[in-house]
Amino acid sequence: MSPAPEVVALAGGVGAARFLRGLVRAIPPRNVTAIVNTGDDREFYGVHVSPDLDIVTYTLAGAIHPERGYGLAGDTTHVIDALGALGHETWFRLGDRDLATSLHRTQALRAGRGLAEICDEVRRAYGVETRILPMSEDPCPTFVNLSGGRRVHFEEYLARDGAPDDVESVDLSDAGSARPGPGVLEAIARADVIVVCPSNPVVSIGPILAVPGVRDAVIDAAAPVVGVSPIIGGAPVKGPADRLLRGIGAEVSARGVARLYAGLCDAYVLDERDRDQLDDVVALGLRARTTETLMRDADVALALARRTLELALDR
Ligand code: GDP
Ligand code: CA
Repeated sequence: MSPAPEVVALAGGVGAARFLRGLVRAIPPRNVTAIVNTGDDREFYGVHVSPDLDIVTYTLAGAIHPERGYGLAGDTTHVIDALGALGHETWFRLGDRDLATSLHRTQALRAGRGLAEICDEVRRAYGVETRILPMSEDPCPTFVNLSGGRRVHFEEYLARDGAPDDVESVDLSDAGSARPGPGVLEAIARADVIVVCPSNPVVSIGPILAVPGVRDAVIDAAAPVVGVSPIIGGAPVKGPADRLLRGIGAEVSARGVARLYAGLCDAYVLDERDRDQLDDVVALGLRARTTETLMRDADVALALARRTLELALDR
């Protein structure tokens, strides 16, 4: 048997984390490096929150809240409940132990340490063997432009406003002038396989690729690049990818996401339910295959990760 490949995964939050949970069973966890979106990062309650970094960390640690897909299993919300009683807005539901992660991050940032080093420390404290790299250490807030000239931070759009449908465009300009995080370009260049996780293409993968140098590094890398569709049967499994894809003028389908990834990916995995789109994806110049991609449990995620690597490596 050939040795396990080194895999770099471009990752958002929940969809990516579910996939990574399978990937680290398909190959040794230390062979995986996740490059994670920080476009959702924002200060809440005086602390620096990194939603996607923490979702990936907690999921790989087996500590994620199973139903919500974010936050820690069994966490309480005493702090934000008490803040609410004092008149604070508490629409961002940060649990107590989850708050500790962000409090630690904030203190370390104030002490002059970098987000990548802090993230590495947190994942080790949670017993995660997989390397987790922020896409950038610079602030990269994603903004959503809505009808009527309203402009909101992505977390305001999602968590406060409930992801309305009147998206006119998405503003990734801060990511577009950020520097790649430590180790990001090196990991991409060294990879044997690059996976674009089943994440929101617009606000999770989009920001990572918007950081100058990252898209070119992926295209220039020797490794095959394989994407996994986050859209099944014309709808996202969870979250507002449909509204954001429509907002940027893309089709809400496996094929529509493949079109966005056509210049980037060599291969693409779509769900069995979207078998009728396989020819269209192949016509984009992608090697493609269908399989079960709805990751109901860790075994489906494992099988999906294996099929994804096989397609990438043409095995
Ligand atoms: P977020 O930052 O938490 O929104 O997470 P991501 O950007 O990583 O993931 C959101 C995307 O993951 C959505 O478009 C979902 O459709 C997709 N997703 C979530 N679970 C699954 C799954 O089991 N299978 C597939 N194929 N996509 C999924
Ligand atoms: Ca996210």
